[in-house]
Order: sequence, then C-alpha cells, then structure tokens
Amino acid sequence: MSQRRGALQVEGVSKSFGDTPVLHDVCLEVSGGEFVTLVGPSGCGKTTLIRIIAGLELPDAGKVLLSGEDITLRPANRRSVNTVFQDYALFPHLSVFENVAFGLRSRRVPSPEVAARVAAALRMLHLEPLARRHPHQLSGGQKQRVALARALVNEPEALLLDEPMSALDAKLRAEVRLELRALQRQLGKTFLLVTHDQDEAMSVSDRIFVMREGRIEQSGPPAAVYERPRTRFVAEFLGAANLIAGTVSAGGVETRFGLLVPRCRPLWEEGTLAIRPERIRICPERPAANAVRARVREVVYCGDHADLFVEPGPLRVRTEPTSHARPGDDLWLHLPPEHLEVLDD
Ligand code: ATP
Repeated sequence: MSQRRGALQVEGVSKSFGDTPVLHDVCLEVSGGEFVTLVGPSGCGKTTLIRIIAGLELPDAGKVLLSGEDITLRPANRRSVNTVFQDYALFPHLSVFENVAFGLRSRRVPSPEVAARVAAALRMLHLEPLARRHPHQLSGGQKQRVALARALVNEPEALLLDEPMSALDAKLRAEVRLELRALQRQLGKTFLLVTHDQDEAMSVSDRIFVMREGRIEQSGPPAAVYERPRTRFVAEFLGAANLIAGTVSAGGVETRFGLLVPRCRPLWEEGTLAIRPERIRICPERPAANAVRARVREVVYCGDHADLFVEPGPLRVRTEPTSHARPGDDLWLHLPPEHLEVLDD
C-alpha cells in the first residue's frame, strides 16, 4: 500500500456510544490520490467513521494514519484533512469569497496570499462570478461548490465528503458527480466520500467499501464488487439481484430450477446463488443448458430498460425498453453459469 502523501489507514477502529456498538474493528487502506467511497444503509456507521478520520470523534480502540503518520489523537484543526458536510455549513453572513477565505484568515495567512489562493479555488470551481454573493443568493449546487472550494483552499492531503450531494436534485447530482470526479483527477488528492446511494458510489470511485452494521462487508473496484458480490447483503444493496437457493451435488451446485454451476465447491451444503437481472438472457428457443421455462407475471417499464417479473421465482429479468413481452407470455430463459455467483452465506 502506498505511503505517499494522502495515504489513509484505519486500523482496527471500534466505537460505541454508551452501550451501543457502532463500529467493530474497522480496517481500511486508501492510497494517496485514490477516490474511495464508503457506502451502506442509514445507521451503519459511515458518518461516525468519517468523523473519527476527521478528528471530530475519538475511537475507543484502533488507529488512524495519514501519510504514514499516526494522527489518532491529533486535534481536528491540526490534521491535513478537510470535511465537506451534508448541509455545507456555510456562514450565512459572509460572502462566497469570505466563506472560502475564512480558514486561511483564521490561520493568519497574509492577505495577498489569501486573495491569490481564494481566487484560484473559486476559479477551479467556476465560482468567480459569484464571489460577492451571500449563501442565501445561491442554488444548492452552487452552495455545494462553495463548500468544496472552502475545503480545498486549505490544500488538505485528504478530503472527506459526507453525503455532499444529498441536498441536490437527481439531475444536478449526476452533473456534480462528474465534476467531483474530474476535480479529484485534476488535483490528484485523496477523496473519501460517504453516501448511502449505490449509484453515486459506483459512478465516482476507484474503490468502494460496502458497510453493514459497523463492519466493512466487502471492498474493491465498483465493477468487481457489483459483478462478484460475496454476500446476499452486498448483492442486494448494490443494484438488483436474484437470489436462488442452491445445494451442493456431485457435479457442482444445483438449484430447484434445474440450474447447475459446474465444478463448484462452496463451504456450505445449502446456500445461495445470485444473478443480476441483466445477465439473464431471453432466448427464442430452449437453450442447451441452464434453461428455465418462465411465465411473465408483470412488466415494469423504466425508460431505458424494462424489468420482467417471471415465475418461477419470482425472477427479475432486465430487457430492452421496447420489449414486447406481456403478462401471461411464456419465455425461455438462459442463466449462464458464469454469471451465477456462489455467495458465502
Ligand atoms: P446515515 O446514512 O443515516 O447518516 P450513518 O451510516 O452515517 O447513517 P452514523 O451517523 O455513523 O450512521 O450512526 C451510526 C449509529 O450510531 C446510529 O445508530 C446512530 O444513531 C448512532 N450515533 C451516531 N452518533 C451518535 C452519538 N453522538 N450518540 C449516540 N449515538 C450516536
């Protein structure tokens, strides 16, 4: 793992609030310049973890290292880490310029340097025309960019982003995601994003860490985690998944639909297989292997695709939006063994 500037390590961090454990022995490593995302359902401990990295909360056990240095006990204002919060926390009585300048001024950076660094940050985030406005004169997306400028002007080694897009509408969120990714590439800094939105996590990150109940359940590049989920939770949390019960047989793992994943030896005798709806193929004729005869129960049109809910199952099958399938139709489906993931649980 890279020790270069901005590398982050969380080693065995645990945290309870009163009698309630919130983080259990969490470990994660982030290389300098990497964009990683903590993703998980509400209450799984994402914000608590990010607050511990930021120095806003102390762990009960474990360590946080930045650029190889132990910063666990270092106060927040002495860590080279800045955080952008969900509500942006802008000062309402200060202009955009002064909001961005605030941190530098409070550290007594000389005025000419403040002016130059704020101007550069405003330019980078396309905020120059708005420099004299106050927060109430800005849109949600503009406020979000001011919050980013205010964090980046300090030139932190790592930027922490706690649900920074949750106040934006869906269209703006998609735009801001692209901007955030481009900005991170341009700066080459470590970004750690927290979100409960799996699309957001998958579209911006080099790697994602899927959290569940205070633990990291699986991590890796988004495509690897999406295509190769290890547990039912990850399979269902990231996108849609069909979960099918399987049993070990002489030839591999079999299911009640007569499907076979050959040459496969999981740790269990009875367990679960997962297949993504887009991996199930609709065939004009009976496929040679792993065929299922199915009846369409419901068709859900989603604009860029349609989902068919079929029996047996119910299985969800993703198809073209122009599909002519109707409830009551009989279909042949092919479930390729290479896309039937054998889960651990
Ligand atoms: P969300 O996506 O809803 O923000 P999260 O994954 O960020 O959720 P946390 O905010 O870290 O989750 O909260 C994890 C758990 O810890 C929750 O059950 C929460 O109620 C609890 N918690 C967080 N902060 C405190 C606190 N200061 N005192 C007591 N309990 C807390």
